[in-house]
Amino acid sequence: MSVFAGPLSRLIDELKRLPGIGQKSAQRIAFHIERAAREDAERLSQAILEVKDKIRLCNLCNNLTEQDPCEYCSDPTRDQSVICVVETPYNVVGIERTREFHGLYHVLHGALSPLQGIGPEQLRLKNLMERLKSGSVKEIIVATNPNVEGEATAIYLSKLIKPLGVKVSRIAMGIPVGSELEFADEVTMLKAMEGRREI
Ligand SMILES: [Zn+2]
Repeated sequence: MSVFAGPLSRLIDELKRLPGIGQKSAQRIAFHIERAAREDAERLSQAILEVKDKIRLCNLCNNLTEQDPCEYCSDPTRDQSVICVVETPYNVVGIERTREFHGLYHVLHGALSPLQGIGPEQLRLKNLMERLKSGSVKEIIVATNPNVEGEATAIYLSKLIKPLGVKVSRIAMGIPVGSELEFADEVTMLKAMEGRREI
């Protein structure tokens, strides 16, 4: 038998299923919700349901959106000749925060991983190839993760897209800003040397 009353115990169990939430955090949040005003609890549950009901994938780029096409694909001021390919919608947010990229995006929703049975057909690639058919795209920037899966995906995309006459580039990898060279491992150091640029 749980030490918590039934509804509290159920709420704690649900909260514990969220990423990064352990037993103690779940308890703290559950007790906070119990003490909160009913309107606050309603707003929270409504916000959760709205995400489930109103968020879908953009037909063009597979980004999460409330409107289709998404705000990036339907923005005429963005550079239509460059598409940045990322693994997850979360990566789009990271690149947007830099305020330096003004092209379009394409979200694969994963990366190639033969060990986990993820092949090209499991990635959302079909509509990317459709987008390239128009001829207006001049460059694809592959911004997949700097790990085995992300690298394999980048190489696969390069082989697939280069024959179409579209430039394929890969984001530079190397030393994280704010860190020190002496802590960089060999692979990171090698990538940083390869990705050097003239100053
Ligand atoms: Zn879109």
